[in-house]
Amino acid sequence: MSDRRRRLVAADRRALWHPFTQMDEWVGYDPLIIERAEGFELIDVEGRRYLDGVSSLWCNVHGHGHPRIVDAMKAQLDRVAHSTLLGLSHEPAIELAERLVALTPAPLTRVFYSDSGSTAVEVALRIAFQYWRQVGKPEKTGFVSLVDGYHGDTLGSVSLGFSQPFHRGYEPITFSVQKFRPPFLHAPIDGRGRCDAVSLEAASTASLRELEAILERDAARIAAVFIEPLMQGAAGMWPQPVSFVRGVRALCDRYEVLLCCDEVATGFGRTGTLFAIEQAGISPDLLCLAKGLTAGYLPLATTLATEDIFAAFRGEYADYRALFHGHTYGGNPLACAAAIANLDVFDSERTVERLHGHAESLAVFLEEHVSPLGQAGPVRRVGLMVGFDLWRDRDAGERYPASERRAHRAALVARERGVVIRPLGDTMVLMPAPAMPPTLLERLVRVTAEAVVQATRN
Ligand code: PLP
Repeated sequence: MSDRRRRLVAADRRALWHPFTQMDEWVGYDPLIIERAEGFELIDVEGRRYLDGVSSLWCNVHGHGHPRIVDAMKAQLDRVAHSTLLGLSHEPAIELAERLVALTPAPLTRVFYSDSGSTAVEVALRIAFQYWRQVGKPEKTGFVSLVDGYHGDTLGSVSLGFSQPFHRGYEPITFSVQKFRPPFLHAPIDGRGRCDAVSLEAASTASLRELEAILERDAARIAAVFIEPLMQGAAGMWPQPVSFVRGVRALCDRYEVLLCCDEVATGFGRTGTLFAIEQAGISPDLLCLAKGLTAGYLPLATTLATEDIFAAFRGEYADYRALFHGHTYGGNPLACAAAIANLDVFDSERTVERLHGHAESLAVFLEEHVSPLGQAGPVRRVGLMVGFDLWRDRDAGERYPASERRAHRAALVARERGVVIRPLGDTMVLMPAPAMPPTLLERLVRVTAEAVVQATRN
């Protein structure tokens, strides 16, 4: 180990507190310290290269150091790095808002900026709550969301999302939200965790019935339903058929409840289209975007709303109908410049057109390398979002004890072989950047499969 690396490791252990990390465990491992990145590879302080198999936590889109995005950020840096949207405006925020309105379904006409997926959801929550108060239905204060949905880590988004593995224990400081089970939890899953498209389709009906029962009983007190459309990411990659997303939209319409789609994870190409809602052909009342919005270069988020919702916030100053919410760096110009460049690259490199081919290649590699594994599978995939579980005994439906940390061990083996992945519990997760070429997708899948074999050997 170089002196520099030794010094950094010691300082990391002394001073850093890593997110979602048991620090007692962390100090027992040799941390990977990234210095730079090129394309789809991360490079550590000793020059070793690693394929970025989780898009730097689900946000990188076109690869690292993309010249067009970097140049746009440098040019913006020469103008102004930060200026506020509270009381002022700036060109990158204006241009990006127009571009997003043009790219999303027509009813979405207004863009509210913040700086993370969590804040995008907090904003949506606040908008939905205040909207009903201001259109004369103040009793509509409740929310509905999916069991084990994940919407971020601020307390409003934790209340909505409430992922059991992450947030158990926080109940006393969260508010209560009505939950319905997603199709994945209704599907007749056999002992081997199988959940195919046909059973998912059937399960969608049961799931929608559950939502309908809640709305039938309580719609008069419910402000909004929140879903992650097509793929519930942090729950462990739980897919939904498009009919489910359509069904939720139809029920929200029928019972006069707002629909918020959280596309923080699914947006910007991950499900095979620019946005997951395109596949379902629906438009939500509120749409949350973050992560891939800047192609993974800077923190930025948006909550898009319909004109009808926006109109409910208009009035005299003294009516106090404005949305009293805002974050210091919300709509930061540098981040907006990166986001505009991201959209330019989507256009110039025809990224969306290439997604289908990448997703098909990924499916082939998964079939070849992962499907035959005895301790893993079946693979759940929507576009380029992939998850599969590890099993001690697949036929008996027996999982490994959590303390064995099998998926974590597999991730460490993959890292030794030059691939960075990050599992969720004992679910292996692959989230390649949407623009990752098939040769690298093959390497990602092959190394992951080899790592699973090694980590489940005894
Ligand atoms: N919503 C979804 C669907 C997510 O997957 C995430 C993060 O993974 C968030 C919200 C929170 O985003 P952030 O970590 O940027 O706050």
